[in-house]
Amino acid sequence: MILDNGRTGMLGKAVTRQALNCIRCGACLNVCPVYQQVGGHAYGSVYPGPIGAVITPQLSGIEKGARLPFASSLCGACRDACPVHIDIPELLLHLRAEVVASQGGFFARAAFRGWAWAMVKPGRYSIATGFARVFPFLLPTGPWKRGRDFPGLARRPFRKWWRDSL
Ligand code: SF4
Repeated sequence: MILDNGRTGMLGKAVTRQALNCIRCGACLNVCPVYQQVGGHAYGSVYPGPIGAVITPQLSGIEKGARLPFASSLCGACRDACPVHIDIPELLLHLRAEVVASQGGFFARAAFRGWAWAMVKPGRYSIATGFARVFPFLLPTGPWKRGRDFPGLARRPFRKWWRDSL
């Protein structure tokens, strides 16, 4: 009997494929500051520690293991300790992006795409924030805002304050 349990999906992408090289030596667990504080049961699966945080969401589905990729400080100690050179922080970041993409609705994704577009050029940023000041209802709402403070934009932009104070 061959059990797949999501491993074919892991094999399909270069970034996730590396997790299949794990020999379960436990070295990443021993050096992980998060694992040392929370212990194995906190990971909710037979795969604890840093490698569990990347394997479990892929085996049981990104919705079920959505919190695990965030249970890391990304210090990189696991990557340094791993004898088969699995880049666990890279995997964690990849999975975090998947979790965010799976949770946001169409409007949230469109808003963040627009924000990413605006943030790369000062001119675009200036136009976008000016626009958001006039139309504040376009700022993020809904589930994304529920767990976060989002005080809104200052009436006077910092760059204007800076220019005036020189
Ligand atoms: S150190 Fe590497 S090989 Fe060892 S358990 Fe962690 S991920 Fe697997």
